[in-house]
Amino acid sequence: MNQLRLDPLTGRWVVVSTDRANRPRAFAPMAPVQADTSRPCPFCPGNEESTPPALETYGPEGRWLVRVVPNLYPAFEGSEPFVVTNRGPVFTQASAGGIHEVLVLSPDHENTWSALSDEQTGVVMTAIRDRIEEHASIPGLRYSQAIVNSGREAGASIEHPHGQLLGMSFVPRELVEEQAGFARFAGRCLLCTAADAEEDVGHRVVLVICPFWSGTPYEMLVIPRAHGPHLHHSPPADLQAVGRALKSVLGGLREVVGDVAYNLVFHSAPYRAPEPYHWHVHVVPKLTTVAGFELGTGVLINIMNPEEACEELVSVRAVAAGRP
Ligand SMILES: [Zn+2]
Ligand SMILES: [Zn+2]
Ligand SMILES: [Zn+2]
Repeated sequence: MNQLRLDPLTGRWVVVSTDRANRPRAFAPMAPVQADTSRPCPFCPGNEESTPPALETYGPEGRWLVRVVPNLYPAFEGSEPFVVTNRGPVFTQASAGGIHEVLVLSPDHENTWSALSDEQTGVVMTAIRDRIEEHASIPGLRYSQAIVNSGREAGASIEHPHGQLLGMSFVPRELVEEQAGFARFAGRCLLCTAADAEEDVGHRVVLVICPFWSGTPYEMLVIPRAHGPHLHHSPPADLQAVGRALKSVLGGLREVVGDVAYNLVFHSAPYRAPEPYHWHVHVVPKLTTVAGFELGTGVLINIMNPEEACEELVSVRAVAAGRP
């Protein structure tokens, strides 16, 4: 049984999820994710019975391209409402109700997002959209977090390309802070304005930038050009364009720095608190380690000028060439 506990020093919720320690190689030392030959990959075709039954599959009859299954080691689970209980003056807890799903990005064990076909990235984005739409219809849930962890250093515990979708009964602090950023901005929309400042030619459907404020080397932000707070209300053409843009930036990243671990973080507004917000995807390569100073202060030290990162990525056509 998982539990949320409030850190009274920071105001952040912590999920205490001891079952997750049982998942494969949860505490394994840093090393490239390697195939565990002692048991077959649970996400490969033919091994479908080693996961719970699929919630959704995409693809032609008899052959799936993308598969959504419940996570065997959920961080959030069950329909308990978000009820906060105080146990004394500093111990605050709540039930960790919600949903935790795995999104298998491809039947091919060796694939990565950058190597997916354009058609496949479209199917992946459609699956993400559909699942968030489904989560949003469930009473008691308020926010969905979609992520892709690629590589051991980025937290992936299984090599087969996959993402995760978490439906949560509360809006996490990171989102609350971004919402506050949008609300503080005294203009039309923070990200529309950032996109305007960066854009060099025409009206692209999607803009990829190395943000001026990047906290880590080669960090990128993928912004659909049409303003909208919710990924799950975005038109299919925009979703497909974002899927292709991710493929292109991850391919570009690979060309510039090699086969690096990375996180994709999909940020979409809480279902019922849409504006002001503009959905987007963070691409965060794991090239440096968050260490004591960053943990102690929340201040990231970026050892690379984002303008330099941008120039390198422009040279392989991963990002827009415009600069503020
Ligand atoms: Zn596999
Ligand atoms: Zn906007
Ligand atoms: Zn964000």
